[in-house]
Amino acid sequence: MRLTVLGRSPASPNPGEACAGYLVEGGGSRVLVDIGPGVVAELLRRHHPDELDAVVVSHMHADHMLDLVTLRYVYPWRARPRHERLRVVMPPGSADQLLDLARGVGNARHFEDSFRLSEHDGSSSMTFGGLDMRPIETVHFIPCWGFRMEADGRRLAYTADTAPCGGLDDLADGADLLLSEATLRTLDEDAQPPEQRGHLLPAEAGETATRAGAKRLLLTHLPIDDGGEWARRDAAAAFEGSVEVAEPNRSYEV
Ligand SMILES: [Zn+2]
Repeated sequence: MRLTVLGRSPASPNPGEACAGYLVEGGGSRVLVDIGPGVVAELLRRHHPDELDAVVVSHMHADHMLDLVTLRYVYPWRARPRHERLRVVMPPGSADQLLDLARGVGNARHFEDSFRLSEHDGSSSMTFGGLDMRPIETVHFIPCWGFRMEADGRRLAYTADTAPCGGLDDLADGADLLLSEATLRTLDEDAQPPEQRGHLLPAEAGETATRAGAKRLLLTHLPIDDGGEWARRDAAAAFEGSVEVAEPNRSYEV
């Protein structure tokens, strides 16, 4: 299984970098997980979207899904036959928001003519050829699901956005590679309101990897100052395995 980082920015982008977007290849399939602003331009460096088997979206925050709008423009401006439409799996309950977005860009059918839209059910595994992907709900400011992916006997866990929670531990359990958000520089940045958490400190990503017995930790969705070394150091203090900061346009064998 191979993971390619197309974007690692949090909602406020790092200069020259896309927001969340991860290409996962395994079991004979190629799936794009999350599609934030800037991701489609990065994807097109490598693949035409027709080479994708699916797009899967973790939650309806702009930094994880707004480039669905852009992706539609890659296709000719007419309805494609249904069997040629790209499979796009959205989080449960997102249909109205997606319709609002389509209307907001001027056409209620903006997505339907190119995408075969569906919603996952919040817990059941999805299969893409030999790639199995199980959504696990996390704790965030809106409903959000991370994904536990298995193919070719390897396990990749993607946290999406999350506060520390039981779902996060389930996601990460025994992962060969834990792709974890590490959005926060301080806990003060998480307050909205103060009693609700929605993101992780790098140290909490490290603690999760340790509890879960993960083999490697890859930090993402973080502001990059000194190349992210501060985040890597903080996570490595809590996890004995390999810790790296995700590099855009780099592929990682899982
Ligand atoms: Zn979010």
